[in-house]
Amino acid sequence: MSFTLHGSGAGGGIAIGRAHLISSARLEVAHYAIAPEHLELEVMRFSTAVDAVRAELQELRRSVPADAPAELGAFLNLHLMLLDDATLSHVPRALVRSLKCNAEWALVQQMDYLVAQFEKIDDPYLRERKADVVQVVERVLKAMQDRPARAKAAPAQEQSLIVVAHDLSPADMIVFKQHQYAGFVTDLGGVTSHTAILARSLNIPAIVGAHSARQMVREGELLIVDGVQGVLIVAPDEIVLAEYEQRQRGIELGRQKLRRIRTTPATTRDGTAVDLHANIELPQDIEQVRESGATGVGLFRSEFLFLNRDDLPGEDEQFEAYRQVAQAMRGMPVTIRTLDLGADKTVNGSARGGPNPAMGLRAIRLCLAEPQMFLTQLRAILRASNYGKIRLLIPMLAHAHEIEQALAMIAQSKQFLDEQNLPYDRGIEIGGMIEVPAAALSLGVFVRKLDFLSIGTNDLIQYTLAIDRTDDSVSHLYNPLHPAVLHLIALTIRTGKRMKVPVAVCGEMAGDVALTRLLLGFGLRQFSMHPANLLEIKQQVLRTDLAKLEQLANRILRVEDPDKALQLLDKLNA
Ligand code: PEP
Ligand code: MG
Repeated sequence: MSFTLHGSGAGGGIAIGRAHLISSARLEVAHYAIAPEHLELEVMRFSTAVDAVRAELQELRRSVPADAPAELGAFLNLHLMLLDDATLSHVPRALVRSLKCNAEWALVQQMDYLVAQFEKIDDPYLRERKADVVQVVERVLKAMQDRPARAKAAPAQEQSLIVVAHDLSPADMIVFKQHQYAGFVTDLGGVTSHTAILARSLNIPAIVGAHSARQMVREGELLIVDGVQGVLIVAPDEIVLAEYEQRQRGIELGRQKLRRIRTTPATTRDGTAVDLHANIELPQDIEQVRESGATGVGLFRSEFLFLNRDDLPGEDEQFEAYRQVAQAMRGMPVTIRTLDLGADKTVNGSARGGPNPAMGLRAIRLCLAEPQMFLTQLRAILRASNYGKIRLLIPMLAHAHEIEQALAMIAQSKQFLDEQNLPYDRGIEIGGMIEVPAAALSLGVFVRKLDFLSIGTNDLIQYTLAIDRTDDSVSHLYNPLHPAVLHLIALTIRTGKRMKVPVAVCGEMAGDVALTRLLLGFGLRQFSMHPANLLEIKQQVLRTDLAKLEQLANRILRVEDPDKALQLLDKLNA
């Protein structure tokens, strides 16, 4: 039966494909179909693994020394009990038979269900027993790994699969970059969460905040993902399918036409040049940047070099990554943002920091608290600056003393390189991100001490409107047109202009074509966005006459009613 789910569009375009359900990343297991004649063999493989784990746990219990703490025996008993509970040992067998899938997949489906049940329990002790369920499942999975299935069907082509997951972390998304899925749907996540930003960077249709998609969609079901409207259509009928196929062709045609302006300079009708730069996460993104015709990298989110690994990248490894990007851009500016770890981006093994991670030890705060890690990165960036035009950008600054400390550490790194006779660009520009309202409201110190500014609208909106950008339950309040947000943006652009300090916007607003003229009207001349958006923004720049913008942009700034602001924006874009 066909049905529709709504979320937030996180990646443009339309994808049509078969659902591929993904379980929690930690216990990620492959999913594949099992031929009917091999189902009983698969059930047996599961039973053998359960027997092996039971024997292992019993052996462990026998070997517990008499003087060991009583909890140890109790803990092993609990795991044995869970293992033999019908919900864990029988249900997966039934799932293998009914879903005709591999046993690992069936087991993880059941684990997800049980964990969700435990999470509903009020008693905190009992609630935490979900960790025991996960541990037992991990043991069984491990035992099955030792006896891989033989009757495995070939996995379907990735290009025709749409990943459906409850939640994906930014680190998971980086792993998905190596795949070629047709689209993504997640139950959780706000539209400017790093997960959504990365989904966009894959340049494929995506929806976040689709609530119960993971639960309602079945493996292999036909899906339509409308990444613009945030609509997921499950099992569409023929008429709907034909309609979306036609729209898909229209979008592809539009993209092909846009490629014609790839090398056209981004200049408004009245001849004003506008810089259109690209945002990247990893050095391999550079190919897409060059294809987009960007004239620089406005934001290299360097922290992505630190995800999905158990160790921190050393100075030489980082240096190679930065140098690779600098050289590939052949003298065009490359703005490397220093580590913005914390909040939703954590290194392997570390928990999300503090009770309120977005407000906790994140970005420059973390770097100043971990000076060795910061100095290592600074030295790597400085060394790479000898190979191109690198600029250094510090995230999440709010206090004058943070700017001073960061500058002092850059000076210390330069001194170290001098002592080692290692070359670097002595004129390297140092910039600061304006992404905390406090920064936008105390620009004096920023323009005095820094060479350029870059407005991170994603966080500026998050912190101005007090909305966690990863929380889809408040994503309807995430409004770039809120008068407070617009005031802070316009104030920063105008102050920069007056004080002759260049200002860019590198948050998602820079890649939203509906806002291009508004930002131009505020005086913005540097945009940095995901490369997939760049040509559309360039087309808008080429069609724009600046003379008419400033007055209307000022009126939008004065209105208090969001509907009125939208009306004026339509007028601006007409
Ligand atoms: C921003 O906050 O707008 C920004 C560009 O940085 P990030 O999205 O990585 O936090
Ligand atoms: Mg930010």
